Amino acid sequence: MFSTAIAGSLPKPEWLAETNKLWPKWQAEGDALLRAKADATLLWIKAQEDAGLDVIGDGEQSRQHFVHGFLEQVEGIDFENKVTMGIRNNRYDAQVPQVIAPLRLKGRVHAFEAQLARAHTKKKLKFTMPGPMTIVDTVADHFYGKGKDPVQGRIDMAFAFADLLNQEALALQADGVDIIQFDEPAFNVYLDEAADWGVKALERAAQGLTCTTAVHICYGYGIEANNTWKKTLGDEWRQYEKVFPALAKSSIKQVSLECYHSHVPPEMMALLKDKDVMVGVIDVASEEIETPEQIADTIGKALQFVPKHRLIACTNCGLAPMGRDVAMKKLQALADGAALARLRYA
Ligand code: ZN
Repeated sequence: MFSTAIAGSLPKPEWLAETNKLWPKWQAEGDALLRAKADATLLWIKAQEDAGLDVIGDGEQSRQHFVHGFLEQVEGIDFENKVTMGIRNNRYDAQVPQVIAPLRLKGRVHAFEAQLARAHTKKKLKFTMPGPMTIVDTVADHFYGKGKDPVQGRIDMAFAFADLLNQEALALQADGVDIIQFDEPAFNVYLDEAADWGVKALERAAQGLTCTTAVHICYGYGIEANNTWKKTLGDEWRQYEKVFPALAKSSIKQVSLECYHSHVPPEMMALLKDKDVMVGVIDVASEEIETPEQIADTIGKALQFVPKHRLIACTNCGLAPMGRDVAMKKLQALADGAALARLRYA
């Protein structure tokens, strides 16, 4: 009951990359960088295990950014000439690479860190990748949409990425990963398109997987642009209302959502029917450490709409841009809060 997991990313140590940044510069290159990535991955596996979490991740220590880390291994993308593009419906500007030719994987993307993590934890291992719709929203297209209706261009490119994600996901499963999670913050932005084709593209990415599949849908990292955007969303955040019914009918088994300190009405969780629900009980936009009581209260609210055996306690989003000490404390709070909830609601 109430197993614990993080959404995905964790802060990079200062000797690996710049801190408190979404697109940090690496501090080393070549073999030295590879060793630093491995060391940071092991450090965070140990920290998650020490905290007592049930599902362990690599903390995304080997990728610069949760979307672009995948794209670096894709042929057909020009990484040399990045352009500035408004992403998440122009919420903020990002420097993005450009799609200029048919997409193909250059080889394995995440073999190094997935195999390393698998060799160093006996607990369930979750591995995260960006979802197709979110990738489409984080790259400039000069190929798939040419001469087409813009929506059709996005769909075609999303399914092209979904094929590549599927290829890597099947290989990660063979590496011994137990849970493959796709991150789709774009589902909370392009509500109609998410329900129309976003979920189908996601299912294509997960096709043929026999391990547990998951999707994470959030209101973004705790950065200023997102915090400002959230203030415009009113008292009730009903974005999940559009996409959850489509997800309920899908093949995806687990859904990760934002809850604590959000204005998401808890009854949204009922729309997920028989899915496992990763309930966000840790705020990633605040440095304040949640108390076990606050976490158990959040779990209690979710229990009105999610059965005990399907509730997983999770963070609202990744912790990448936070301070390392704060993140460590939040991991411990997550485990302690779930333990209290087990006593309370057993
Ligand atoms: Zn997130």
